Amino acid sequence: MVDELNQEDTFNYFLICKICIDEECCAEPYFTFCARNEIDKIKEKIKDFPEIFHDFLEVDTIMYNGEVYEWYGIKKVNGRCIFLKNRRICMIQDVKPLHCRCYPLVWEYDLTHNKLLIYLDTHPDCALVPLISKDKQWLIRMKEIIVNEVQQMPMIDRIAYSSLDCDDTLQLIDTIDLL
Ligand code: SF4
Ligand code: SF4
Repeated sequence: MVDELNQEDTFNYFLICKICIDEECCAEPYFTFCARNEIDKIKEKIKDFPEIFHDFLEVDTIMYNGEVYEWYGIKKVNGRCIFLKNRRICMIQDVKPLHCRCYPLVWEYDLTHNKLLIYLDTHPDCALVPLISKDKQWLIRMKEIIVNEVQQMPMIDRIAYSSLDCDDTLQLIDTIDLL
């Protein structure tokens, strides 16, 4: 399976996720962050899904410059992401948030220095970690995607994402200056 994936598409590790036994990925206790500029694509994707999926956002608030702002995540139902079908199928695979697409890479925005910190989550249960760690092309490409998409995010979303609790399994792999 891995050889086949590496030959055909070094970016597509989704087949590995399909057979993963980790019970927590896409589920509690993790929050699935969704930037506001990602919400419309998801709405378009799910417009013909049953009504139950239309109320898919979880809302939280954050203080920034003395103002209260809303920020968003994908809702959990019975402890699992509302878009997680069966064991491991993402119903919005082609429009899922960056937070999901880049994992096990995780980013954090350093507001003071306008830098992006990129981590690898070395979680021992994630089968992708040893694979992508060796795939330099994937890492370079995904870091480009993260930088590009974070730069398009409203500042409040960069800050909100960076306030998420992170596991102690994060290993810093790069620090990038933003424009
Ligand atoms: S833990 Fe890793 S391998 Fe398993 S589903 Fe999540 S990202 Fe995929
Ligand atoms: S949007 Fe898809 S990949 Fe992201 S947490 Fe939900 S089911 Fe998992």
